Amino acid sequence: MKMKLKDKTLVIWVACIWFMITCSSCSRPVSDEQSPRVLLPWIENGQYHFRVVELRTMESLKSLRGSVARFSVGVNGPEPIVRALRRSDGVFVPTDPMSQNLLSLYANLERLAELDDQVGVGYLLPRPWKISINTNIVNENQRRLHNNAQYDADRKMIEFTSFESRGDLPLTVNAGAIAHEHFHALFDVLVPSPASLQDCSAMEADQIAARREARLRELYRVRLLRAMNEGLADVWGWIHSGDPRFVARSRPEDGELRSLEKGIQPIWTAKQFSDYNRAEGFCPRRSDQDFVYQLGNQYGLAFQWAFGSKDRVPVAHVVIELLRKLKKDIMNFPDGDELKPALLIENLARQNPRQCPFLISILQPKDQSELTWQCWETL
Ligand SMILES: [Zn+2]
Repeated sequence: MKMKLKDKTLVIWVACIWFMITCSSCSRPVSDEQSPRVLLPWIENGQYHFRVVELRTMESLKSLRGSVARFSVGVNGPEPIVRALRRSDGVFVPTDPMSQNLLSLYANLERLAELDDQVGVGYLLPRPWKISINTNIVNENQRRLHNNAQYDADRKMIEFTSFESRGDLPLTVNAGAIAHEHFHALFDVLVPSPASLQDCSAMEADQIAARREARLRELYRVRLLRAMNEGLADVWGWIHSGDPRFVARSRPEDGELRSLEKGIQPIWTAKQFSDYNRAEGFCPRRSDQDFVYQLGNQYGLAFQWAFGSKDRVPVAHVVIELLRKLKKDIMNFPDGDELKPALLIENLARQNPRQCPFLISILQPKDQSELTWQCWETL
């Protein structure tokens, strides 16, 4: 039977539409699939399991490109290549450890971006964020670091060194560690950083003597803010991962110092912190002073004991509120002498009166008396 011209046109149109529907993904490689689902080590209820995780913002699985983050090998290097096979159910399975690490890293950054949006700071850090892997990071003595990560405020980039881990978990898979580094980026935009310290390595003895007291005051302020930054970054790591011992999983050597699952520690007075600061000397060679992390951990434990059993997203709101207040305090006290370790706890107590009695109990007697009056005013 002969078809009419009108029928033929209809058949051609149907065939075209069918081709477009069935072959909509034929024109691009399978790795460019939108919102791919990937089998990854993933933390749930404080434990890691293999889970199928949807990467909602991923644009190219192969070059690890998505709207949340862009990656480079080294700070100026090429994009990394991800290798994965697609199972019959459509789930991608990474075929080498590097690919598994990178996809886990992207998945965590995606969830951290969602948390930023939830607590109203999503606009602060323009996306895609810059992430570098296999980065050559050196310490003050020009020794190359391994199994480490940092937020580079000048480049606005999170940088990971090579992947080898002394613990059970590479840092790029460790949800808490990834959140810790991301928090430093938030702190960097929310809290004004102190003026950078003058390089002291080439100073003569008379220059050191003339500048000693001023320099120690600068160091006090820099280190106090660093302790607050490190302590709250570990709180952010716990908020994102639900894992109070995330540091130990990748860096067992720091695990006990930074654990958020131990007895509460009293917050140091300004004098105690100043004494540690002076003991470190005028021109210290180390940037990772243990006493900075010790005070940071006192803040972390205060949060864990005050809010640990609660839904974690409201705790993220509390942290952001605290940073906004800290910014005002720093601008009001430009010389630094008024800043003291108890300040963060006093602000936390004022903002959360129900936690005030507990927060008073972890301060030293002198700082306690000031906070007691403030608690009575707010309660
Ligand atoms: Zn840190």
